[in-house]
Amino acid sequence: MSRKILIAGNWKMNGLKAEVSSLAKGVSAKYNNNSAYEMLICPPFTLVANAVDTVKGSGLKVGAQDCHFNTNGAHTADISPLMLKDAGAEYVILGHSERRADHGESDSLVNKKAKAVYEAGLKAIICIGESDEQNKAGKAVEVNQSQVAGSVPDNATAENTVIAYEPIWAIGTGRIPTSDDIQNIHAEIRKALASKLGQSVADGMRILYGGSMKPTNAEEILALADVDGGLIGGASLKVDDFMGIGACVK
Ligand code: PEP
Repeated sequence: MSRKILIAGNWKMNGLKAEVSSLAKGVSAKYNNNSAYEMLICPPFTLVANAVDTVKGSGLKVGAQDCHFNTNGAHTADISPLMLKDAGAEYVILGHSERRADHGESDSLVNKKAKAVYEAGLKAIICIGESDEQNKAGKAVEVNQSQVAGSVPDNATAENTVIAYEPIWAIGTGRIPTSDDIQNIHAEIRKALASKLGQSVADGMRILYGGSMKPTNAEEILALADVDGGLIGGASLKVDDFMGIGACVK
């Protein structure tokens, strides 16, 4: 089953209006809409609508980095999937390890948010990944399978969901797993998706790798059989680095 590569940028808590003009505009100007891959930027909430307007017509997509599971109501400072849809977002990153660590987000909360994202007609990028300690204890497969079981809703499909495997110890550190390890864990994640959602959904669902991806290592990672793109933090903040990763898609 063919899975279109997705190159997604997570700006995290970085960017002002000036970055929409320089970075979002710069990426959209260079992105070729007929590319063999899909490209997405996820700026902070404050910039989503502005980014959508700025990249209009380029094919570059815009997403957000989190949302609430309700549509509206008494939830001060929260942002709902409907608001993101209204702003023109197409994707929402959920369960990033920084949300799990900084805001105590659990698998069941991520699951609830993903269902709300589907209800609004958006796509969820559900992040999973083991800590350094879990990795060293040989528990990476077990941890990621359990996060799939808990975070991914039963009504997830290959169209409404993307998984991002992000070993926490590789995020922003410059350390990355070996290619064999990345391929192995992606294959195990696909098995966990198959046992939850059925083989054909699992075969169609994209699994991104995230953690210190750069133009210098992307070609090897993106060539792996079960890697269907990248979720990129630091390197998504520079037009040339982000486009350089896109250029590694073969
Ligand atoms: C991330 O936080 O999603 C990420 C992959 O960051 P970086 O690329 O900077 O490691």
